[in-house]
Amino acid sequence: MPLHHVEQLEAARVGAGASGRNGGQLGSGQRLGQPELERRFGQERARLLWQLAEEAKALVKARIARHEIACELRPGVLHAAHKAAHAEALEREAAHLERRYGYEQARYVARAEMAVGIGALLDRLPNLRLDPDSEAPRFIGMYERGATEIPVVFGPH
Ligand SMILES: Cc1cc2nc3c(=O)[nH]c(=O)nc-3n(C[C@H](O)[C@H](O)[C@H](O)COP(=O)(O)OP(=O)(O)OC[C@H]3O[C@@H](n4cnc5c(N)ncnc54)[C@H](O)[C@@H]3O)c2cc1C
Repeated sequence: MPLHHVEQLEAARVGAGASGRNGGQLGSGQRLGQPELERRFGQERARLLWQLAEEAKALVKARIARHEIACELRPGVLHAAHKAAHAEALEREAAHLERRYGYEQARYVARAEMAVGIGALLDRLPNLRLDPDSEAPRFIGMYERGATEIPVVFGPH
Protein backbone atom coordinates (compact mmCIF):
# COMPACT_ATOMS: atom_id res chain seq x y z
CA MET A 1 0.00 0.00 0.00
CA PRO A 2 1.52 3.40 -0.97
CA LEU A 3 2.31 5.76 1.88
CA HIS A 4 1.13 9.35 1.66
CA HIS A 5 2.47 12.21 3.66
CA VAL A 6 -0.45 14.55 4.34
CA GLU A 7 -0.23 17.97 5.92
CA GLN A 8 -3.23 20.11 6.58
CA LEU A 9 -2.95 23.88 6.72
CA GLU A 10 -5.75 25.59 8.57
CA ALA A 11 -5.84 29.25 9.57
CA ALA A 12 -8.30 28.66 12.41
CA ARG A 13 -9.33 25.26 13.75
CA VAL A 14 -10.42 22.32 11.60
CA GLY A 15 -14.01 22.82 10.49
CA ALA A 16 -13.90 26.53 11.36
CA GLY A 17 -15.01 27.54 7.87
CA ALA A 18 -18.31 26.98 6.11
CA SER A 19 -18.04 23.19 6.40
CA GLY A 20 -18.16 23.34 10.18
CA ARG A 21 -21.24 25.50 10.44
CA ASN A 22 -23.44 24.92 7.39
CA GLY A 23 -27.06 23.92 7.68
CA GLY A 24 -26.32 20.31 6.74
CA GLN A 25 -28.92 20.32 4.00
CA LEU A 26 -28.31 18.10 1.01
CA GLY A 27 -30.04 20.18 -1.62
CA SER A 28 -30.57 19.49 -5.32
CA GLY A 29 -29.16 21.53 -8.15
CA GLN A 30 -27.10 24.68 -7.84
CA ARG A 31 -27.68 27.95 -6.03
CA LEU A 32 -29.48 29.27 -9.10
CA GLY A 33 -32.51 27.32 -10.25
CA GLN A 34 -32.38 25.32 -13.49
CA PRO A 35 -34.57 27.77 -15.49
CA GLU A 36 -32.14 30.59 -14.64
CA LEU A 37 -29.10 28.42 -15.45
CA GLU A 38 -30.68 27.53 -18.80
CA ARG A 39 -31.22 31.20 -19.55
CA ARG A 40 -27.64 32.09 -18.67
CA PHE A 41 -25.69 29.12 -20.02
CA GLY A 42 -28.00 27.22 -22.40
CA GLN A 43 -29.65 23.82 -22.12
CA GLU A 44 -26.59 21.67 -22.43
CA ARG A 45 -24.50 23.34 -19.75
CA ALA A 46 -27.46 23.71 -17.43
CA ARG A 47 -28.04 19.98 -17.73
CA LEU A 48 -24.39 19.28 -16.91
CA LEU A 49 -24.67 21.47 -13.81
CA TRP A 50 -27.77 19.57 -12.75
CA GLN A 51 -25.99 16.23 -13.25
CA LEU A 52 -22.96 17.48 -11.32
CA ALA A 53 -25.18 18.32 -8.35
CA GLU A 54 -26.97 14.96 -8.56
CA GLU A 55 -23.61 13.18 -8.57
CA ALA A 56 -22.51 15.21 -5.55
CA LYS A 57 -25.63 14.14 -3.66
CA ALA A 58 -25.03 10.51 -4.58
CA LEU A 59 -21.38 10.77 -3.47
CA VAL A 60 -22.33 12.21 -0.07
CA LYS A 61 -24.92 9.46 0.46
CA ALA A 62 -22.47 6.75 -0.59
CA ARG A 63 -19.86 8.06 1.85
CA ILE A 64 -22.36 8.24 4.68
CA ALA A 65 -23.25 4.60 4.01
CA ARG A 66 -19.68 3.43 3.50
CA HIS A 67 -18.31 5.06 6.65
CA GLU A 68 -21.50 4.51 8.65
CA ILE A 69 -21.65 8.20 9.55
CA ALA A 70 -24.34 8.77 12.19
CA CYS A 71 -25.54 12.09 10.77
CA GLU A 72 -29.28 11.39 10.93
CA LEU A 73 -29.70 11.70 7.18
CA ARG A 74 -33.35 12.29 6.34
CA PRO A 75 -34.81 12.65 2.86
CA GLY A 76 -36.35 15.98 1.91
CA VAL A 77 -35.49 19.67 1.96
CA LEU A 78 -38.26 22.22 2.34
CA HIS A 79 -37.85 25.50 0.45
CA ALA A 80 -40.33 27.84 2.07
CA ALA A 81 -41.44 30.90 0.09
CA HIS A 82 -42.13 34.06 2.02
CA LYS A 83 -43.93 35.82 -0.83
CA ALA A 84 -46.74 34.60 -3.08
CA ALA A 85 -44.65 35.36 -6.19
CA HIS A 86 -41.83 33.17 -4.87
CA ALA A 87 -44.27 30.32 -4.24
CA GLU A 88 -45.45 30.49 -7.86
CA ALA A 89 -41.86 30.32 -9.08
CA LEU A 90 -41.20 27.27 -6.88
CA GLU A 91 -44.30 25.56 -8.25
CA ARG A 92 -43.18 26.26 -11.82
CA GLU A 93 -39.68 25.02 -11.04
CA ALA A 94 -40.90 21.71 -9.60
CA ALA A 95 -42.93 21.10 -12.78
CA HIS A 96 -39.95 22.15 -14.92
CA LEU A 97 -37.61 19.70 -13.16
CA GLU A 98 -40.01 16.85 -13.79
CA ARG A 99 -40.70 17.77 -17.39
CA ARG A 100 -37.19 18.58 -18.54
CA TYR A 101 -34.97 16.55 -16.22
CA GLY A 102 -37.26 13.65 -15.37
CA TYR A 103 -36.80 14.55 -11.70
CA GLU A 104 -39.90 13.42 -9.84
CA GLN A 105 -38.89 14.16 -6.27
CA ALA A 106 -39.57 17.91 -6.26
CA ARG A 107 -43.10 18.46 -5.05
CA TYR A 108 -44.91 21.74 -4.62
CA VAL A 109 -46.31 22.06 -1.11
CA ALA A 110 -49.45 24.20 -1.18
CA ARG A 111 -49.96 27.00 1.32
CA ALA A 112 -52.71 25.12 3.19
CA GLU A 113 -50.50 22.05 3.46
CA MET A 114 -47.66 24.16 4.84
CA ALA A 115 -49.99 25.64 7.45
CA VAL A 116 -51.09 22.15 8.55
CA GLY A 117 -47.47 20.92 8.69
CA ILE A 118 -46.20 23.89 10.68
CA GLY A 119 -49.24 23.65 12.95
CA ALA A 120 -48.50 19.97 13.63
CA LEU A 121 -44.90 20.86 14.46
CA LEU A 122 -45.94 23.65 16.82
CA ASP A 123 -48.44 21.31 18.51
CA ARG A 124 -45.45 19.24 19.59
CA LEU A 125 -43.82 22.35 21.07
CA PRO A 126 -46.61 23.90 23.13
CA ASN A 127 -46.17 27.47 24.30
CA LEU A 128 -42.97 27.89 22.25
CA ARG A 129 -41.23 31.15 23.20
CA LEU A 130 -37.83 32.81 23.34
CA ASP A 131 -35.91 31.77 26.42
CA PRO A 132 -36.28 34.77 28.76
CA ASP A 133 -33.07 33.78 30.58
CA SER A 134 -30.88 33.86 27.46
CA GLU A 135 -29.53 36.68 25.34
CA ALA A 136 -31.80 37.88 22.54
CA PRO A 137 -30.89 36.35 19.13
CA ARG A 138 -28.43 38.28 16.97
CA PHE A 139 -29.03 38.27 13.22
CA ILE A 140 -25.87 38.48 11.16
CA GLY A 141 -24.74 38.22 7.54
CA MET A 142 -26.06 39.52 4.25
CA TYR A 143 -26.20 36.66 1.75
CA GLU A 144 -26.72 33.85 4.29
CA ARG A 145 -28.53 35.96 6.85
CA GLY A 146 -29.50 34.18 10.02
CA ALA A 147 -29.42 34.15 13.78
CA THR A 148 -26.29 32.97 15.55
CA GLU A 149 -28.62 31.00 17.80
CA ILE A 150 -32.24 31.27 18.91
CA PRO A 151 -32.61 29.90 22.43
CA VAL A 152 -36.22 28.84 22.97
CA VAL A 153 -38.20 27.06 25.63
CA PHE A 154 -41.54 25.32 25.37
CA GLY A 155 -43.97 23.60 27.65
CA PRO A 156 -45.90 25.02 30.58
CA HIS A 157 -44.72 28.30 32.16
C1 LIG B 1 -24.03 29.56 7.23
C2 LIG B 1 -23.83 28.60 6.06
C3 LIG B 1 -24.80 27.64 5.79
C4 LIG B 1 -24.61 26.74 4.72
N1 LIG B 1 -25.53 25.75 4.53
C5 LIG B 1 -25.32 24.83 3.56
C6 LIG B 1 -26.20 23.70 3.45
O1 LIG B 1 -27.16 23.53 4.21
N2 LIG B 1 -25.95 22.81 2.45
C7 LIG B 1 -24.88 22.95 1.61
O2 LIG B 1 -24.71 22.11 0.72
N3 LIG B 1 -24.02 23.99 1.71
C8 LIG B 1 -24.21 24.91 2.68
N4 LIG B 1 -23.32 25.94 2.82
C9 LIG B 1 -22.18 26.01 1.89
C10 LIG B 1 -21.10 24.98 2.27
O3 LIG B 1 -20.96 24.90 3.67
C11 LIG B 1 -19.77 25.42 1.64
O4 LIG B 1 -19.93 25.54 0.23
C12 LIG B 1 -18.63 24.40 1.88
O5 LIG B 1 -18.56 24.04 3.25
C13 LIG B 1 -17.31 25.02 1.41
O6 LIG B 1 -16.27 24.10 1.71
P1 LIG B 1 -14.77 24.52 1.50
O7 LIG B 1 -13.93 23.36 1.91
O8 LIG B 1 -14.62 25.06 0.10
O9 LIG B 1 -14.56 25.78 2.46
P2 LIG B 1 -14.50 25.84 4.07
O10 LIG B 1 -15.22 24.69 4.70
O11 LIG B 1 -14.95 27.24 4.45
O12 LIG B 1 -12.98 25.63 4.39
C14 LIG B 1 -12.01 26.63 4.12
C15 LIG B 1 -11.04 26.61 5.29
O13 LIG B 1 -9.86 27.32 4.91
C16 LIG B 1 -9.39 28.04 6.03
N5 LIG B 1 -8.55 29.12 5.51
C17 LIG B 1 -8.94 30.26 4.90
N6 LIG B 1 -7.86 30.99 4.55
C18 LIG B 1 -6.77 30.28 4.95
C19 LIG B 1 -5.36 30.52 4.87
N7 LIG B 1 -4.87 31.61 4.30
N8 LIG B 1 -4.53 29.57 5.37
C20 LIG B 1 -5.00 28.45 5.94
N9 LIG B 1 -6.33 28.17 6.05
C21 LIG B 1 -7.20 29.09 5.55
C22 LIG B 1 -10.66 28.52 6.74
O14 LIG B 1 -10.41 28.79 8.11
C23 LIG B 1 -11.59 27.30 6.56
O15 LIG B 1 -11.58 26.42 7.66
C24 LIG B 1 -23.46 26.84 3.88
C25 LIG B 1 -22.50 27.83 4.16
C26 LIG B 1 -22.67 28.69 5.24
C27 LIG B 1 -21.61 29.73 5.55
